[in-house]
Amino acid sequence: MADELRAPVRERFNARCAYRGVHEDAVGATLTIDHHRPRTRGGTSDAENLVYACARCNEHKGAYWHEQDFPHVRLLHPGRDDLTQHLRESDDGRIAGLTREGEFFVQRLRLNRPQLVAYRRMRRSDAELNAELAATRRHIEALERTVLDLRTALESAADEIERRLKGRS
Ligand SMILES: [Zn+2]
Repeated sequence: MADELRAPVRERFNARCAYRGVHEDAVGATLTIDHHRPRTRGGTSDAENLVYACARCNEHKGAYWHEQDFPHVRLLHPGRDDLTQHLRESDDGRIAGLTREGEFFVQRLRLNRPQLVAYRRMRRSDAELNAELAATRRHIEALERTVLDLRTALESAADEIERRLKGRS
């Protein structure tokens, strides 16, 4: 597919596999362009039908189209459907379907394949570490402000002592 067609799809899905998969930085390569409705099932190359997807999701999805293929459950479209209504990621990095479409989506795309679960767990632990780091930075900043306040108080106390000593002599 021509680059001028690929670029907007990549951008639309933030360089990430739109089927709840990896970011291209984790793969070390650009991902593929998937025709949500396969060309062999009458799908076009209109922007609306194109999804940025990793090779494995693309492969698992295959030429499935619910109108022709068993079990005739519509495959969710990451650009059109709100996936958060259909899927839930748990703390252990696994994804569960909340609806019939969600369950089918997870099953068809094998979204709990071990490498993807490990990837999500890694992202989660990175996010936790970043949150801890941010909290630690805020704590250090508060301590620095306290130290500054104490230093100011100490200086004015020293000034006051000096003034009193001078007054006595
Ligand atoms: Zn993928």
